[in-house]
Amino acid sequence: MTQSNSHPADAAPGVWDALILAAGKGLRSGRAAPKQFEPVAGASLAERAAASLLDSGAVRRAVLVLAPDAALEAEALGIARRPGLLVAAGGAERADSVAAGLEALAEGPPEGVLIHDSARGAVPPAVLARLKAAVRPGLGAVPVLPLADALWSLDGAGQFAEPRPRAGIVRAQTPQAFIYQEILDAYRRRAPGADALDCAAVYKAAGGAVAAVEGSALMRKLTVPEDYAIAEKLYAPAPMEHRTGMGFDVHAFEPGEHVTLCGVRIAHTHRLAGHSDADVGWHALTDAILGALGAGDIGQHFPPSDDRWKGADSRLFLSAAADLARERGARLVHADVTLICEAPKIGPHREAMRAQTAAVLGLEPERVNIKATTTERLGFTGRGEGIAAQAVATVAFPLPGHTAGPTAG
Ligand code: MG
Repeated sequence: MTQSNSHPADAAPGVWDALILAAGKGLRSGRAAPKQFEPVAGASLAERAAASLLDSGAVRRAVLVLAPDAALEAEALGIARRPGLLVAAGGAERADSVAAGLEALAEGPPEGVLIHDSARGAVPPAVLARLKAAVRPGLGAVPVLPLADALWSLDGAGQFAEPRPRAGIVRAQTPQAFIYQEILDAYRRRAPGADALDCAAVYKAAGGAVAAVEGSALMRKLTVPEDYAIAEKLYAPAPMEHRTGMGFDVHAFEPGEHVTLCGVRIAHTHRLAGHSDADVGWHALTDAILGALGAGDIGQHFPPSDDRWKGADSRLFLSAAADLARERGARLVHADVTLICEAPKIGPHREAMRAQTAAVLGLEPERVNIKATTTERLGFTGRGEGIAAQAVATVAFPLPGHTAGPTAG
């Protein structure tokens, strides 16, 4: 196999693009639209494929290869408007469509390319990682599954003729992964009659070797109507339950010149006393998240007796609580913080606090609320002796027996 000029021998590719082959007519599926554009549990297979490749950052660009008459349909469905997604017209045969997609990446070419069949929908991140790790110059990679059923050949009357050995036989899936320049060369030089071959076969015919990596049952190719019924279940959002936690915290004022509230440093006549940076808002919110997780309180996770937390940025505590939610398969969906003080004024800093909090939690700002109130000069906050904060956090958990979705693994 010719080695690419642009790629050093033995180096794994760094920059990846993808092809999503969606030029098929899908006639066998028994559906009205080409199967790759038919919604399955709310999104088409082509959309799921594009999202799993682009949103994960697995590839820089993806080319959606469409039948020439399907471009308008994809545009109407909004698939073609996703950032990073290019559209190319395919050809009459599969090999023509692959070749057209590869040529569409020739400007600013990637080092590696993933060639995916849109009828398989989303690609789990673990499979992408295995493929990328396996590819080397002269070596492509294809995800495979073992064969579970017995294999038989049939005679002319449709009756069992001969049992076929199953040992060493696998089912090949997509995406198939290659050094871009090598697979491009293989398609440019492909022999007549290569029309129906898959990419691994074209690559091998050009002298390349292909490694088998573990595939995923989630990349099942949807072909017959029964497959769609299974996919509807596979892609259906997991039923969730919501749990809410609350937090409360107080810190006293001491001589100083600034306070830190919800990650924002604000000049003030005093500072808040505390072992860490005394960010009372984020302490209350950390406790609220831990509460929703049933995970105790901030003092258990970050004891004030531990010198590691002396003067610590409370960002550490809040992000640790958010990490704990992810580790438990839960998703933080909303946070609301109330700061209780006469001074400083919170209003001018509210949006900055919201942005800081959303960034630490990995949430859209719309899912975070920061507000402030006084106690009408009553009590310790009214007398300006300190600041109190309350917080509520809501966390979504998949119900037992469900996972968070087909791309979660
Ligand atoms: Mg505190």
